[in-house]
Amino acid sequence: MKSFFYFSGLIAIMALIASCTNSSAKLNEKDALAMHIDSTIKPSDDFFMYANGKWFKENPIPASEQSNGLWQMIQDTINNQVLSICKTSAAITDAPKGSDKQKIGDFYYSGMDSVQLNKNGIDDAKPYLAMIDDIKDLNGLVKVAADLRYIAGSALFSLYVSQDDRFSNKNAVMISQGGISLYDRNYYFDTDDRAIMIRKKFVEHMADMYKIAGYDEAKAKQAAESTMKIETALAKSSRKMEDTRDPLKNYTKLSFKKLTETAPNFNWALFTKNIGLEKVDSVIIGQPEFVSSLNGYLKSFSINDWKNYLKFHLFSNLSEYMDDKTYQENFNFFSKTLGGVEEPKPRWKRVVEQTNHSMGELIGQVYVKEYLPKGTKDKLLEIGNAIRDVYAERIKALDWMSPETKDKALIKLNGIVMKVGNPDKWKDMSIVQIDRGSYLKNVVSASQWRYKYMIAKYGKPVDRTEWGMQPQTYNAYYNPSNNEICVPGCNILVPGYEHVLADDALLYSIIGGSTFGHEITHGFDDQGAKYDKEGNLNNWWTKSDSVKFFTKTKLIVAQFNEYVAVDKLHINGSSTQGENIADLAGVSMGFEAFKKTKQFTNNEIIAGMKPDQRYFLAYGLGWMINTRPEALANQVKSDVHSPAKFRVNGPLSDIPEFYTAFNIKQGDAMWRADSLRVKIW
Ligand SMILES: [Zn+2]
Repeated sequence: MKSFFYFSGLIAIMALIASCTNSSAKLNEKDALAMHIDSTIKPSDDFFMYANGKWFKENPIPASEQSNGLWQMIQDTINNQVLSICKTSAAITDAPKGSDKQKIGDFYYSGMDSVQLNKNGIDDAKPYLAMIDDIKDLNGLVKVAADLRYIAGSALFSLYVSQDDRFSNKNAVMISQGGISLYDRNYYFDTDDRAIMIRKKFVEHMADMYKIAGYDEAKAKQAAESTMKIETALAKSSRKMEDTRDPLKNYTKLSFKKLTETAPNFNWALFTKNIGLEKVDSVIIGQPEFVSSLNGYLKSFSINDWKNYLKFHLFSNLSEYMDDKTYQENFNFFSKTLGGVEEPKPRWKRVVEQTNHSMGELIGQVYVKEYLPKGTKDKLLEIGNAIRDVYAERIKALDWMSPETKDKALIKLNGIVMKVGNPDKWKDMSIVQIDRGSYLKNVVSASQWRYKYMIAKYGKPVDRTEWGMQPQTYNAYYNPSNNEICVPGCNILVPGYEHVLADDALLYSIIGGSTFGHEITHGFDDQGAKYDKEGNLNNWWTKSDSVKFFTKTKLIVAQFNEYVAVDKLHINGSSTQGENIADLAGVSMGFEAFKKTKQFTNNEIIAGMKPDQRYFLAYGLGWMINTRPEALANQVKSDVHSPAKFRVNGPLSDIPEFYTAFNIKQGDAMWRADSLRVKIW
């Protein structure tokens, strides 16, 4: 995800930049790319910092953010657009009850009403806490865990209804490991100082939350300790992040009868019935050993421990929608200790983001009409198709893939569905009740709707036209089960180019490379390659092609293992490989497609930059993200994406055209030996 910003100050043009871009042309300091260049850094030393360093120096990370950069700028633009939609709706006090405007306006109003929120304290959560207090036995736990599922997140385990990986036309019930509060299992076992500090503070935080929920000091402490024990047990039974990548190894279909035999201590019939699933004939288990372990823990921990555990998960999930005290306690641990953020975002921003999340289907409809630049859909399709054409040429020319596998790859490529701009139909939120009374109830109401919507898919045919994002979502995805790419309209936004389209170097780099190119590659990476053109888990590769592909991926795993993200923490080359492969192929394909544009063939110099330089600078700028060290450490431990700096310097140091564009020579930090340069697609 990617984009830009306009800056007013003038940039001193150093001889250095002029010489490494184009000696005859002067850089235009107002240009969206040139304005961020740090002329004290050589592109051959650290291209990421060269492209973005000036902006980082001038824009320290705000106290309320984990990071800042291009995404935040775009998100700020979108937030302000959504704020305007919220305010306009809230100003209409006589909007018909049940209308979109009434819902958006009242949702926003209830969140902004801090006087009422602080007056209510935790009152709105009390009925749910009381449900947990009333639990008497394991069956009671199962029932309440099911009844509160839509607000207690993935307590105990993760369960959702989604396309069956082997039969993509069917929706299936998926059960996988979950139930922990820290981002990844490693947090419970790592022995470095930071991990030890986090665990200590996490237990203290839980105790403070129990106190807010009404426990006395001693009971709160005891509850925090027992919940930590449960979470540590669940973490221990969870697979490592890199071991959850292979879809085949994380797929075990069990009949419902077999499930109840595997984990008899958990009343599955009661649970599924109470979350709204009637007659489940089979389930897909991601990690069967996790379910077996959970079965044991249900008996080895007391019912009282489990009640406390469930209470923490529920209360933690609701904490953002109550009084300031509860909000602050949750913020202090999850954002401050874990994320390094110094202070909360202003209320308006939090509420706008929540309204956009909860009421996104309704806001999206207004957003498309009022904010999506004209021609968005056509331009996105043009770029998407150009990238697909390049992919086809590349696949045909691959020297390591057999003709047999190539044919199938081309069929899959041609079958990719591109959903761009905005959906043709919107999800029906008419049953959701929203009023100005309680913010928490409004959030719960929307969550319940979303949960029921998901559960209701079970037993129904798969709707392949459904969108998993909204037009105002600044992100994109590839869904292997549908063999589809979704690029929401707001991805066209480039700061400084809100009303006219940016030049093709920018668009082909950011939307072509980092979006379409990246997402298409997910269809052929270590996970996507296991799905066929219909979206079914079905290995269509010949054995020898698989081996060759695996050998090539080993090279990129090794490359990223080398990189140190923060302190002594290395990137996990294995768990990030899918994203790194997608980045590398994306930027390479984007460049190939860009070479066919007029801007490139006419060698147009823009703002003093040649087309190739402009393309790679735009790629760097697309990842202009500066992140706090705490958040970087979290990312390395729990995210399959590499930190931004390595998403730029990693792939670019594999690409020959980049070497030419910026004159990278042996001995430069960005230089890699030929034998180590990765080229897969
Ligand atoms: Zn990706």
